[in-house]
Amino acid sequence: MSLESNNGISIQKVETSKIASVDFENLKFGSVFTDHMLVCHYKDGKWGQVEIKPYGPMSFAPSTNVFHYGQAIFEGMKAYKDANEDVWLFRPRENWARFNKSAERMAMPHIDEERFVDGLKALINLDRDWVKQGEGNALYIRPFMIGTHEGVVAGPSSEFMFCIICSPARTYYSGKVKVQIAEHYSRAANGGVGYTKCSGNYAGQFYPTKLAQEAGYQQVIWTDDATHTKLEEAGTMNVFFRIGDTLITAPTSERILDGVTRKSLLDIAKSKGINVEVKSIVVQDLIDAHAKGELKEIFGAGTAVTVGQIEGFAFQEKYYQLPEVSDDNSFAIQLKTGLQGIQQKKIEDTFGWTE
Ligand code: PMP
Repeated sequence: MSLESNNGISIQKVETSKIASVDFENLKFGSVFTDHMLVCHYKDGKWGQVEIKPYGPMSFAPSTNVFHYGQAIFEGMKAYKDANEDVWLFRPRENWARFNKSAERMAMPHIDEERFVDGLKALINLDRDWVKQGEGNALYIRPFMIGTHEGVVAGPSSEFMFCIICSPARTYYSGKVKVQIAEHYSRAANGGVGYTKCSGNYAGQFYPTKLAQEAGYQQVIWTDDATHTKLEEAGTMNVFFRIGDTLITAPTSERILDGVTRKSLLDIAKSKGINVEVKSIVVQDLIDAHAKGELKEIFGAGTAVTVGQIEGFAFQEKYYQLPEVSDDNSFAIQLKTGLQGIQQKKIEDTFGWTE
C-alpha cells in the first residue's frame, strides 16, 4: 500500500490513542472505531481539502438535508494485515466507482479517486495498528456522504460531507443461518435505487427483517417486486446457489447491488474450474432441486461476512433444510478460503486485487 501521497491532506493526530482500551478478542461488529476519521466538504460546486482528524461527534443544524430528505450513501470495504505486518486494501477502486454510481442516482456529486483512495490510504496508514493479523481479522472501512445543506425545502442539497470511519472487525456472522424468502415485502423495484448503497435501502429492510427474525430466520432473501419469484439478494449479501455441481447467482440489475465479493467469487470459481452460471433463478427451481436432492448449498457473499453459509430457507410457511456438505466438498468453503487467502496474502494474488 502506498504510504506517501499525503500531499494536500491536512492531518491532525490524537494526543493519546484509545487502542489500549479495546478488547480485540471480543469485538461486536461495527461498535468500536479507530482514533481518526477523514472528512471532506463539498461547497460552491467543488470538493475542499481532505482532513484527517480525531474520530468524534459532529454538529449539524436540525434543518440539515440528510435528516429530512435522506441524501445519504455509503460503502463498506476492508483492510487486512499480512504476516509481514503489511496492510492491504481489497479492490478499493471498485468501491470508489460504486460510490459514485450511488452518488449519481441520489443527485449527489461524484468524488474523485484521489480524495477517496489516496485519502483512505493516508487514514489507514495512520491507524494501521488497528488492523490485526490473523484469520477473520480486518479493519472494516465505512466511507459515506450526506447532504449538509441547511433548510427544509424538498430538493437536492448544494452542500455535502464525505467522511470515512474505520472499525476493527472479526468475521460478521458465525455459523450457518436460516433465511426466509420474501413473499410480500420488496427491497427494490425497477427504476428504483436497489443497485445503490443509499441509506434508505437499508432502513426499508429493517422492519421485514425484524419480522423474519421473530419467526426464527436471521435474514431475508429478497425476490423481485413484480412477481416475488426471482431470487435476488439478501440484506447485505449477494446470494449463490449450488445445484448439482453448478454454481448459480442472479445477474446484477437495477434492483441488485453489484457486490465486489460476488464478482470476485465468480472469478475465483471459474479459475478453480467450477461450472458457473449467472442467471435468474426462481423459488420453484430451488424447491424442485431440493426435492430431487440436487440443491446442495446456498451461501451469501459480502464484505462483512465474506462467505456466509445458509442452512435452510423458508417459503410459504414451509422450511427446507439443506443437506450437510463436508468442508472438503463445499463450494462455499473452497471459495471463502480462496478469497480470504488472497485478502490476507497467503495465496498469490494473480488477479491484482490487493493494493
Ligand atoms: N447486497 C447488498 C444489499 C449489500 O449491502 C452488500 C454489501 N455491500 C452486498 C450485496 C455485497 O456487496 P460487497 O461484496 O461489495 O460487500
